[in-house]
Amino acid sequence: MRVLLKLSGELLAGRKPPIDWEAFSFYAREIAAASSEAEIAVVVGGGNILRGAKTPSPATGHLMGMLATVINALALRDALRDEGKEARVLSALPIPGVAGPVDHWRARDALAAGEVVILAGGTGLPYVTTDTAAILRALALGVELVLKGSKVEGIYTGDPAENQNVELLPQLSHTEYLSRRLRVLDPAAVQIAAEHDLPIVVFRADREGAFLSALRGEIGSRIG
Ligand code: UDP
Repeated sequence: MRVLLKLSGELLAGRKPPIDWEAFSFYAREIAAASSEAEIAVVVGGGNILRGAKTPSPATGHLMGMLATVINALALRDALRDEGKEARVLSALPIPGVAGPVDHWRARDALAAGEVVILAGGTGLPYVTTDTAAILRALALGVELVLKGSKVEGIYTGDPAENQNVELLPQLSHTEYLSRRLRVLDPAAVQIAAEHDLPIVVFRADREGAFLSALRGEIGSRIG
């Protein structure tokens, strides 16, 4: 089984934003523990450092946001290696000596050899999110399931931070997710996943063993 884990900047910020080294170690252990059951690609967000849309000059700001994902990717790679797990960073914005370019065929070979492949730089294009990058990379890598880590248990009928009367939805179709105007995942990303019947699981990621449980279908909300 080949899966792709989307780790947002919010998770990587942990308790010591912008970069909580303990959070990186925690997610590295989660990934290492699950790697006996699946080949794992990871797309990292960058929102713990910067979001392009919130900068005075978004066209540049989005580039800065993509560079922020490279910073997170490097930290995650080292945390994985500290756990004894081989990992490499491939970037949509390659930086010589730091992160090579994304080559999906090289990435597939590395995954098949048991390496964790961390995909940085989002799509390489401004005005989209790393959720969209996660779906596009998953399709190009032949991934069966995308897992999006979250701070809440899964997908609710509304925002649990704003409204207490929301219900957890264990399963819904891509179309239902889009028509309910839910926001836990970027709708642009879900639209692409819908066109390719790519399932997505949203799960609470900040608890030990959660990634493995989500991968086994034991927790979280499933789209598709
Ligand atoms: N970004 C971008 N193109 C991409 C992916 C990301 O321009 O393909 C920029 C965008 O400005 C975004 C920032 O990088 O705000 C960080 O990514 P994102 O917000 O998706 O991170 P997350 O919310 O997952 O931490």
